[in-house]
Amino acid sequence: MASEIDRGLARPWHALRLPGELEGLYRTETEPRSGLFVQSWLLVFTAFNLLSLKADLDAFGAERFWIPMVATLGVVVPSTLLAILACRGRPSRRRQTAAVTLAALVDMAVTLNSAGQAPAEHANTYLVLAAIIPLVVGMIAPLSFRHSLWFCVSACTVYLVGVALLGYVGVGTNGIPLLVASLTLVPIKLNYSREWEAKRGFLLSLRERAQAVELSRANERLAHLSETDPLAGTANRRLFDLRLAEIWKAAGPGPSVILFDIDHFKLLNDTAGHAEGDRCIRQVADALAAAVGSVGLLARYGGEEFAALIPGTDTRSAGAVAEKARALVEGLGIAHPGLAEGGVLTVSAGIAVRDRVVDAEPAFLVKRADDALYAAKRAGRNRVRGHAPSPGARSVGFAA
Ligand code: GH3
Ligand code: MG
Ligand code: MG
Repeated sequence: MASEIDRGLARPWHALRLPGELEGLYRTETEPRSGLFVQSWLLVFTAFNLLSLKADLDAFGAERFWIPMVATLGVVVPSTLLAILACRGRPSRRRQTAAVTLAALVDMAVTLNSAGQAPAEHANTYLVLAAIIPLVVGMIAPLSFRHSLWFCVSACTVYLVGVALLGYVGVGTNGIPLLVASLTLVPIKLNYSREWEAKRGFLLSLRERAQAVELSRANERLAHLSETDPLAGTANRRLFDLRLAEIWKAAGPGPSVILFDIDHFKLLNDTAGHAEGDRCIRQVADALAAAVGSVGLLARYGGEEFAALIPGTDTRSAGAVAEKARALVEGLGIAHPGLAEGGVLTVSAGIAVRDRVVDAEPAFLVKRADDALYAAKRAGRNRVRGHAPSPGARSVGFAA
């Protein structure tokens, strides 16, 4: 799409049509939403014709005034009203052009007729006026270039046929009507430029929209990257700290923090290799994430440590999550070559639930979870321990 937009913007002046799907898109987007503009304009057109009856009276005189009056009231006004009716609701471009053409050509033919019927000294005025009608209509009506071609060529033809019938074209005439006839073609150029500019504006706005979408996607990708751990695929410490700070302001119980640490991981790295260590981190991350589920947020806290933030829980439910996670990791059965025969990879976990008396800030809560984690390590690893917030800070075990 972006390359098509650029191609459209760089196309030569004679290529009005937009490349590929852009032309269809342009037409759909610029399809008139209502015919109100053309209708109101045709109403002004009717009023103008009614007002010009005064000029007709001056030109024709009281006796022959009936000629322009009958033509205006009996032909021009009804046909313009018909055109207004045809533009009700949401008329297509084609319908609008047909309505406008009908109104303009009828008025022009009537004015040409007046040129033939009026006293000779007023004939030229009507001749010029007859050409000015399609000129003005073609400039004001919202015609596409293609439609303005139809409009102007038919206006010019009707005009030429009219002046020929009146005897203004031919040997011995001064050719002024032919010169005036060319006025009817002026809207072609105007409508060409108008459509060219409209399409240019359309392409620029399309490019702007595409750039805005691209930018917002890039921002989303960036936000995702800045909050995700590339190895584990979980949230990273940055997001964990952010969420913890946010949740800290909420009233009610909790949150709980669980810190997980893989047991004897350095030994696994040393015996199985760093690449295998990475693979294990990913597997453990998946198991921990499955245990935490949608209850809370799991983040890689650093190295082989993970942290879970469980909002609004008591020690018992956070303990259930931690125990489930521990069991899932053990259940993976990842062989640990550094341990005795049959030894598998396990995690230890430490839990702390926010206590509004002792946890003055989030770091205090995390520190207590860390203390509990070390208690789990000291107690033999592959287990869960909770930190009691009471003075003296006992570590308490969690039943599986
Ligand atoms: P403990 O049971 O007491 O936790 O022992 P441990 O060996 O797991 O503890 P220690 O903190 O000494 O070792 C952590 C090791 O984790 C050290 C480091 O090489 C390894 N490690 C940290 N980040 C990564 C990583 O991204 N990939 C791999 N493969 N290893 C990592
Ligand atoms: Mg560690
Ligand atoms: Mg460890």
